[in-house]
Amino acid sequence: MRYISTRGETQPLSFQDAVITGLAPDGGLLLPETIPDVSARLDEWRDLGFVDLALEILPLYIDDIPRETLEELVRAAYGTFSHPEVVPLIPVGDVNVMELFHGPTLAFKDVALQLLGQLFEYILSRRGEHLNILGATSGDTGSAAIYGVHGLPEIDIFVMFPDGRVSELQELQMTTVADANVHCLAVQGSFDDCQNLMKTLFADLPFKNTYRLGAVNSVNWARVLAQIVYYCYASLKFSARPPATFFVPTGNFGNVFAGYLAKRMGFPIQRLVLATNENDILSVFFNTGVYQRGDVRFTVTPAMDIQVASNFERYLYYRLGEDSERLRRFMDDFSSTGRAALGSSARDEDFAAMAVDAKDTLSVIRRTYESHGYLLDPHTAVGLAAAEQVSATGPKICLATAHPAKFPEAVNKAVGADVAHHETLEALRGLPTRRTVIPANLDAVRDFLASHARR
Ligand SMILES: *Cc1c(COP(=O)(O)O)cnc(C)c1O
Repeated sequence: MRYISTRGETQPLSFQDAVITGLAPDGGLLLPETIPDVSARLDEWRDLGFVDLALEILPLYIDDIPRETLEELVRAAYGTFSHPEVVPLIPVGDVNVMELFHGPTLAFKDVALQLLGQLFEYILSRRGEHLNILGATSGDTGSAAIYGVHGLPEIDIFVMFPDGRVSELQELQMTTVADANVHCLAVQGSFDDCQNLMKTLFADLPFKNTYRLGAVNSVNWARVLAQIVYYCYASLKFSARPPATFFVPTGNFGNVFAGYLAKRMGFPIQRLVLATNENDILSVFFNTGVYQRGDVRFTVTPAMDIQVASNFERYLYYRLGEDSERLRRFMDDFSSTGRAALGSSARDEDFAAMAVDAKDTLSVIRRTYESHGYLLDPHTAVGLAAAEQVSATGPKICLATAHPAKFPEAVNKAVGADVAHHETLEALRGLPTRRTVIPANLDAVRDFLASHARR
């Protein structure tokens, strides 16, 4: 399988090169040249566990790592999960909650980043190369990326996060990791500022090459790929008729885009429902066809406080008929005016979208705890609120993106009691921390990399 850029000006890449490259050199995002159709094989895969199913799906997209090696990497990645099923499905009322938070940092990003860490290590050690990973995080990506690569000899990781805008626990999960290859940067700005700094540095090709910068943000194809697997797994757990509808708490469009690919591969998926918080740019787009930037609002679901969704371009590429010219015009309009619109009708049968405000989010947490004794994190609650309001003919599956103990203030407030705990997190308190505060400008990040990155 080869990988092409949405912007159409990059020579097709192998899987390994796609993983190391992250963002394509032409500024686009990488996608597989074709999407395999597996509809004829679904019955034989129905009873597989998560890891065994991953070992069927991943080789369809990875043809430059020997099968036995890939199996070792996948088993190592998911061996760090504390639940025997890795991603268990829990019935909560008439919705099935898929718990994606049993990895080391208790958020769904571990599903992708534990595998990405293994892939990086394998590729770099074979090539005898070193990589400086630069990432931006609104909280969960940073710690999940750090836990994916800490202590690896071929990698340094630099994580920018908005100072004071990630929860105390999220910050502790990053800054308590003692390995010398981990560098935490508290940026005096918003998550969008961090993400823009990162994008600008990756677009500066001489700089990117000098410092051998690699990406772990959801622009990295391997992350999307790892996430495809749990949609496949969940959709096969139910009888295919009528197919399942997924409710996905959405920020960067990375998670839900993986579901879109699973559907295109032929897995029994009726629809993907995007659930956003008050930062509703995606929900407005799917309801009107207008993609318009607003100001970032800070909510009880900080991992979704995003206006410009980095993975949306991958979807747009398909939506615009795999036409890189049209895509580039759309993105240019958007970056110069903050607005772009689809000329044709806005509806896409594969998707529905709704925005959920903080009041409804907290009330869903309270009601779900009272009626079912099940504790939701606020992000998952946004998904469940959508599942309560959007009808579906088949089973409803809501993706649980974090353990409630990662967001104790909101959860305890909603329930009115001190209920959100996890031993992994309690153990962080009192550990020594390391971080560097820098202003939200390019020179500051460049200087830090110049003095700390290995060449
Ligand atoms: C990252 C994250 C999201 C949003 O995922 P995207 O792939 O950016 O849409 C939702 N919930 C939690 C807890 C997260 O960490």
